[in-house]
Amino acid sequence: MWFKRKYNEYGCPMCGRLPVIKAWQTEKYHESRKVRTTLTVYRLQCPRGHISTSWFSHAALASRQWKELVDEYKGKDTK
Ligand SMILES: [Zn+2]
Repeated sequence: MWFKRKYNEYGCPMCGRLPVIKAWQTEKYHESRKVRTTLTVYRLQCPRGHISTSWFSHAALASRQWKELVDEYKGKDTK
């Protein structure tokens, strides 16, 4: 009997682990409006630190870049 290995397509290309979301809060001072706002940015990264995305204002955007990174990595790997 074959066991179809349940491999997550979008796990880290090096270790297969699912990415974790990192959130980071930055304060931004708006000179023109004299206000300070808090901005939360997100990125996805392999829990083992193999690859990571850039910081995005939305987790969904980071998740999209993660998929692109994985695809890109797989593309390079294929002959
Ligand atoms: Zn990894």
